Amino acid sequence: MRSILLTNSYDKSDIKPTILIQEYQKLLTQDIQDFFKKPTRKNQACNACNAPTTEPAFSRLKLQYNECLSCGSLQVDDRPTTEQLSAFIKYSKAIPYWNEKLATSTAPERFKHIIQPRLDWIAQGISEYKNASSKIGIIDAQPDYTEALKALPNLFSPQNIHSLHSPDKNSISISSLKGNCLDACLAFESFDASLHPRDDLGKVAKALNKGGLLFITSILGSGFDIRVLRERCESILPPDRMNLFTVEGWKILLQDSGFEVLEFSTPGSFDTNNVKSEINTNKEFLQDKFVSYLFSNREQKDLDAFQNFLQEALLSSYGRILARKV
Ligand SMILES: [Zn+2]
Repeated sequence: MRSILLTNSYDKSDIKPTILIQEYQKLLTQDIQDFFKKPTRKNQACNACNAPTTEPAFSRLKLQYNECLSCGSLQVDDRPTTEQLSAFIKYSKAIPYWNEKLATSTAPERFKHIIQPRLDWIAQGISEYKNASSKIGIIDAQPDYTEALKALPNLFSPQNIHSLHSPDKNSISISSLKGNCLDACLAFESFDASLHPRDDLGKVAKALNKGGLLFITSILGSGFDIRVLRERCESILPPDRMNLFTVEGWKILLQDSGFEVLEFSTPGSFDTNNVKSEINTNKEFLQDKFVSYLFSNREQKDLDAFQNFLQEALLSSYGRILARKV
């Protein structure tokens, strides 16, 4: 298994302007109150490693997150039902705000800093592990990427790009494939939002040919900013982030589902800045003496070096995984 390091030279506000994110959070909080009033699933086994015991960790936007006592993964305990999630996707005020305001105003920066690097990663993985003449089928969770991939006809055949989502977009369905077997699958933060990630990964494994590739990006519960900030971490936005698996949780989940991990990297750039920004706003929450000392007594260049260390040690909260079906 290999890991890569990446250096990003952009500011987080380029893709997440503070004012727009605050309004999005406000709408999302109201949506959750409106649509997830009576959650029904509680005290479930860990969705990553399947261990039976989790304990309360924190509440975020009024949803309770539990932590697995075995692998440390964080996950929403009081999960919405399928019907509640469908209603949320259909009638949410936050989703159109994201699509019409946030995504539109940041589209060029998002393409440059998020989408293009992912396309490069896919292209590299396909050329390394697959025969260049093979027809590559792609399961894609997000329309952005479907269109972006279709614009690369030298790499992908447009008719071989299949959506793996059910019509209401709240679960993974392979029925649309009509017997096609896939050589590759993309899941960009898709499993973070999944109500039943173990079932969904099983469906993906079934749809892939032996040796098929699975490209995953995920927000990791083992990441530095999430471990330090907990409910104060602004990237934890349910229901898109119902599952925050740790590196260890992901490895067990993939192995249990019949995959070997070829690459596991955490090329995130914002952990230290996220923590620093929160400390500058309110230092009182910080219990950890080492973290408190670090941010009080070291310069930005040291914090940048610390961020590089987080990548090397797989401790950033942005993860990317390339797995192969065995
Ligand atoms: Zn676990």
